[in-house]
Amino acid sequence: MGTSKGERTPLGDPVAFVGGLVEVGARTWAWIQPNGGLGESNAGLVVGDGEALLVDTLWDERLTAAMLGEMEPVTSAADAPIGQLFNTHGDGDHWYGNGLLPAAAPITASEPAIAQMRAEPPSILTRMAPVASAAGLLGRVPMIPGGARMRGLGGFNDLLSNYEFKGIHPRVPGRSFTDTAELDVGGRRVELTYVGPAHTVGDSIAWLPDARICFAGDILFNRVMPIMWAGPVGNWIAALDLIKSREPQVVIGGHGPVGGLSDIAAIRDYWVWLRERVLEAGSDPDPLELAERLIRSPDFEPWREWDGVERTLVNVARIAATEAGGSSEIGTAERIKLISGMGALGERLAGA
Ligand SMILES: [Zn+2]
Repeated sequence: MGTSKGERTPLGDPVAFVGGLVEVGARTWAWIQPNGGLGESNAGLVVGDGEALLVDTLWDERLTAAMLGEMEPVTSAADAPIGQLFNTHGDGDHWYGNGLLPAAAPITASEPAIAQMRAEPPSILTRMAPVASAAGLLGRVPMIPGGARMRGLGGFNDLLSNYEFKGIHPRVPGRSFTDTAELDVGGRRVELTYVGPAHTVGDSIAWLPDARICFAGDILFNRVMPIMWAGPVGNWIAALDLIKSREPQVVIGGHGPVGGLSDIAAIRDYWVWLRERVLEAGSDPDPLELAERLIRSPDFEPWREWDGVERTLVNVARIAATEAGGSSEIGTAERIKLISGMGALGERLAGA
């Protein structure tokens, strides 16, 4: 499974922290996939009386089936099978496994997340297989995060080959909400709040008041560099403040190990710092130049060890665009430019 020490992650790297099914509170579990890189996403399990809720599925059915297999003894012992699913947002690594849930299980997500899901089914990725066509198709896959080892579009394709997207038809959520919603999971209240557009257009979080646990989706990349495809960044910062205001005991992000308030503070500091640097750089900064200069500056120290620092290029570009009043929806040409820009920046950073 690539979840304990000495094993390998889905991308084939040595495991850097303990993963698998982690009990994070009363009748609440996180599914953690080291090392939190491209497609190495987390999920959650909330067990109520006679029923359980799954928070997110994984990027393919093989990974999702392995996770459900590990969860089965827990739900069996509690006599609480998974009867509901909540998808935190519309990126494939959080919902492409939806097809493995029983057809009767309702799936909930925010309205913008559902719109993204409809626009980006797995078939987009299977059609990407030939490198030659990657450039054109990548433009239609706006929300895929960059990887630490991503070196241009070819490198990106190599990373994708670790997953199996062929022939899967995940179920799109049938229950939507726009602002807030509440789920009753066998007597346990789960509060859903839409906090986007930030990482994507559809980000929302789940809060368990009885256990003081937050499932933050990709609002928390924990000790992994976040990537902002939508923005504005003020929404992301506000979402982190909302999580903090609830005084959670545990926060589970969409990527990286189980976290808490100090991890929320670290990613918040990054966004506040980066927004200031982008604003002081003037109206139309060159994202590659600015991102490289910022990553090399001593101020970058708190986040230097996070995987995927080259994502800062996308973050710089999206902050500049959205602070200037630009749309949260990113255009095709811009996406391609940013993805190859990350490759170029990765090469520059590796070079010297
Ligand atoms: Zn993700």
